[in-house]
Amino acid sequence: MSILNKSLFISFEGIDGCGKSTQVNMLMEKFLKSGDKARLVREPGGTKICEEIREVLLKNRDDVMADRTEALLMTASRAQLTKDCILNQLEDGIIVVADRFKDSTIAYQGGGRGLDIDYLLNLNEFATYGLDPDITFFIDVTAEEGSRRHSGKPDRIEGEGFDFQKKVREQYIKLAHMFSKRYIVIDGTLSPDKIHQLIWIEIQNWKK
Ligand code: ADP
Repeated sequence: MSILNKSLFISFEGIDGCGKSTQVNMLMEKFLKSGDKARLVREPGGTKICEEIREVLLKNRDDVMADRTEALLMTASRAQLTKDCILNQLEDGIIVVADRFKDSTIAYQGGGRGLDIDYLLNLNEFATYGLDPDITFFIDVTAEEGSRRHSGKPDRIEGEGFDFQKKVREQYIKLAHMFSKRYIVIDGTLSPDKIHQLIWIEIQNWKK
């Protein structure tokens, strides 16, 4: 049975390897079973233009991408995704689940790269037409745990290493305080099933 009967915009955030994709997939399956219409979007990517930007952003390269270029490309991709895949779905009453959204720019390009946070917040507002998630699940693990879990060849940003991931995590913790109304911090060391259970309870509570 449908649990919501209204649109809802949920984002998942956290450092690489925290378990976002695992939870996003479990949640999408749950929505499918409960009869709720839900659409998954992943950043950066999601439309043809976004996938082309993703390729430029993430491929390992010999030349060095400027931090500002990285921030602008990330937010350019987000602007396209917001317009093409998020705003219209929400208007149609569809639940949108985002595997990363605007907070990733603040955490990675702000916390990780050291770009000005206020400027990035403004840039994000512009890119997202002022849209905020209703709920943001921050799955929190230490940089040690994240890198222990990570397997396969890292992309350009994942390959930045341990100290970078630490700074990203610290910025997420600040964001959780800054946007405490929409943030739900989840202990990412719990089992995937337990985390999923906690997330589902929060979503059910939100509709009340
Ligand atoms: P992310 O999308 O945040 O990078 P993933 O969901 O891909 O993270 O998970 C990274 C790795 O950690 C995968 O091998 C996954 O099976 C494992 N994993 C996910 N959630 C948990 C958890 N709660 N406890 C232990 N390992 C986990």
